[in-house]
Amino acid sequence: NLTDRLEGVFKKLRGTGKLTEENIKESMQEVRMALLEADVNFQVVKDFIAKVSEKAVGLEVTKTLSPGQQVIKIVHDELVELLGGTTEQIRLDGRQPVTIMMTGLQGSGKTTTSGKLAKILKEKGRKPYLVPADIYRPAAIDQLQVLGERLDIPVHPSTTDMKPVEICRQAMTVAGQKGYDTLIFDTAGRLHVDEALMGELKEIQSAIQLSEILFVADSMTGQDAVTVAEKFNQDLEISGVVLTKMEGDARGGAALSIKSVTGKPIKFVGIGEALDALEVFHPDRIASRILGMGDVLTLIEKAEAVVDKKKAEKLAKKLRQSTFTLEDFLDQIQQIKKMGSLDQIMGMIPGINKLKQLKDAPKPDEKELAKTEAIIRSMTKKERQSYKIINASRRQRIAAGSGTTVTEVNRVIKSYSAMLKMMKKMRGKPGLVTGQKRRK
Ligand code: GDP
Ligand code: MG
Repeated sequence: NLTDRLEGVFKKLRGTGKLTEENIKESMQEVRMALLEADVNFQVVKDFIAKVSEKAVGLEVTKTLSPGQQVIKIVHDELVELLGGTTEQIRLDGRQPVTIMMTGLQGSGKTTTSGKLAKILKEKGRKPYLVPADIYRPAAIDQLQVLGERLDIPVHPSTTDMKPVEICRQAMTVAGQKGYDTLIFDTAGRLHVDEALMGELKEIQSAIQLSEILFVADSMTGQDAVTVAEKFNQDLEISGVVLTKMEGDARGGAALSIKSVTGKPIKFVGIGEALDALEVFHPDRIASRILGMGDVLTLIEKAEAVVDKKKAEKLAKKLRQSTFTLEDFLDQIQQIKKMGSLDQIMGMIPGINKLKQLKDAPKPDEKELAKTEAIIRSMTKKERQSYKIINASRRQRIAAGSGTTVTEVNRVIKSYSAMLKMMKKMRGKPGLVTGQKRRK
């Protein structure tokens, strides 16, 4: 993978005391190979290497940084440039309502991203309105409706007998009446770029004052995504890119090429199917991540967003009073899950790639977490509140209901009761749990 390859190059450079034209050339050759193998656009690689080489050759030997470090710095800075330089936010000021059209090929993630984006905007205090404008598959309208219900965000009641542009116009009127300030138009995609699709999008573009035209691309399709992005940009003049399925893209070719080729910034990345798996794209952080420096900033931001202060206080109180039920246990699991996949979180911790022991150590198992969740969900409210009533026949029912076995149900109850015991012990020790007086 790209990170490992680059780490190898820099390790060699670190060993050399002096930067010579010779060893710069050699290492640039290796960086070039690494980028090409990562499926980065050929021309982009060529320009990149030329820029880095030029800066590296002109380097003055300083006392503070080693030659290797200096080259890493140059590569890092150029990577940041390549990825777009600065973080680009969605345009929310200016003309109201804000109107965002989602475009892209079928299956790229437009509908899912519409939902995820609406969620982010709602959390920012906007009043989003989801507008299904894909009339070719009735399921597409349903899909957005389901997302809207789950997010508690209104969805325009589109029907398949209306033209997409009419749907969008009608939705604008409804938004005006109901005070929705941000419209997200989820358009149809095709398997390939075709004129009918472009015509339809252009029609919407000329009928509605659009604040943003986002091109949604599946990062796993690599250079194909870049080619299609360029076509959409030529026809529609897109305002930004959303790269989806980034969590599964080990190579990064699309991410590293798309800004350079289209001139349009990546604004968001999708990193999973869950509705909170959409992140603002930060070029500097991604560059650091590619270079194996980890991404502490993102990690901190995530942790802050997820750990709900009020909930934490409530939990602390429950711990003090030993009223921590299986219901609370379930809540805990969900908090952990909100932080993203455990793999994602591990990947953001700097140095984790380098610590072989850690890499090989067994990771917390997400499947196990999901199973635990299913098991608790199959319990009745009463059972969750007092686990002692869960007898053999109840265990059997829970196992059947959650698609697990009685042994697995037993394990969950056992680990919960062990946790409970530990908490009780802690209660007796002043200092561990604050603000609590010993009761007699
Ligand atoms: P559309 O045809 O462009 O509207 O695509 P959809 O939104 O229906 O998404 C197609 C598939 O990709 C669905 O199964 C989504 O769950 C999945 N998907 C979308 N974004 C992501 C992502 O960031 N990561 C992963 N793993 N799957 C995604
Ligand atoms: Mg769709």
